[in-house]
Amino acid sequence: MRKQKRSMQKMIIAVMVIGSFLFGSCSKTEFTEAGKNDSPITSGADGENRDHSANGLPQETDSRLEVHFMDVGQGDATLISCDGYYMLIDAGNNDKGTAVWSYLKQQGVERLDYVIGTHPDADHIGGLDVVLYKFDCGTVIMPEVENDTRTYEDVVQAMEEKEYPVTCPVVGETYSLGEASFTVIAPNKDYGLDMNASSVGILVEHGENRFLLTGDAEEEGEEDILENGIDISADVYKAGHHGSKTASTEEFLNAVNPEYAVISCGEGNSYGHPHAEVLNRFRSMGIDVFRTDEQGTVVAVSDGREITWNCTPSESWQAGEPTGSSAGQNTEEKMVYITKTGEKYHREDCSYLKNGVEKISLFEAKERGYEPCKKCEPPVE
Ligand SMILES: [Zn+2]
Ligand SMILES: [Zn+2]
Repeated sequence: MRKQKRSMQKMIIAVMVIGSFLFGSCSKTEFTEAGKNDSPITSGADGENRDHSANGLPQETDSRLEVHFMDVGQGDATLISCDGYYMLIDAGNNDKGTAVWSYLKQQGVERLDYVIGTHPDADHIGGLDVVLYKFDCGTVIMPEVENDTRTYEDVVQAMEEKEYPVTCPVVGETYSLGEASFTVIAPNKDYGLDMNASSVGILVEHGENRFLLTGDAEEEGEEDILENGIDISADVYKAGHHGSKTASTEEFLNAVNPEYAVISCGEGNSYGHPHAEVLNRFRSMGIDVFRTDEQGTVVAVSDGREITWNCTPSESWQAGEPTGSSAGQNTEEKMVYITKTGEKYHREDCSYLKNGVEKISLFEAKERGYEPCKKCEPPVE
């Protein structure tokens, strides 16, 4: 089925390539605002007649796309390079900024054409301030959601000092990165203070190869991506929310239908990522899995047709085990309450809770640096 679909795409691309030679229209723009009149850029939900004209590669090309899923422990940092252009998506936790910077230097990065901070959680934007200070950065894309944390303030300060404007993600907009391009697929609405749901999601295309990255989007975010109608089928899927069972729903996976999945998580992380449910879904769909907790930095290279990897897929199918405060039954479902401006988390009936109350998991509250309220004494683990 997949093979059939692929060869059909090849035919379509061949026809388009010949067409573009005939009409001599292959000029590339630095930035294409796709779908002003006819968004989204990709056609039909059936995925059979994708419009690859934006990035259809000539038959003979030495264009090379590299996607580095960096090992930053529990967190995300992905470097994408294409033909001398660079993009960084997230930069790991606060203590990873320098490691990310030196990895980028090793890779020969001098300027980042794009920087995406998927959402203001510490395991994604923690190291971003270092990167923003150290590199000359082009377009910096971040969602319109603020976090009441020191980590987020550090990023805002770096942006101000370097005088970088924030570019807000607009679903359907396409940007070029050398011969490759990427399209914003999320966030699809205002999710209030739900950081994970606000994650910037992108689909990277290089010739026939497609990579989908959704940050920490969970079930609701995935549903909204499905609803926006953009074709999200991809060869490589970066498992949402570090392989948590709150993401990578069956419906979503069916739409992505990837050949490979990459899980970015830390060895022995306290959340138990990746969760067995997600690994089982991947396994039953015959998806090859790579994971940074077992394999370190995972690198995929695309020549526009084939994807090769720096390591062989993981065979362990080993789910993480929640430890410490995350261990035990049902702790994952423990929910607490926060407000827009407060620094504490509360029980539902706490009298300190007033307007703009948000229900989040205890894990998320702790991840985001909230302290337990002294009045209502909510659970601490
Ligand atoms: Zn995360
Ligand atoms: Zn998050």
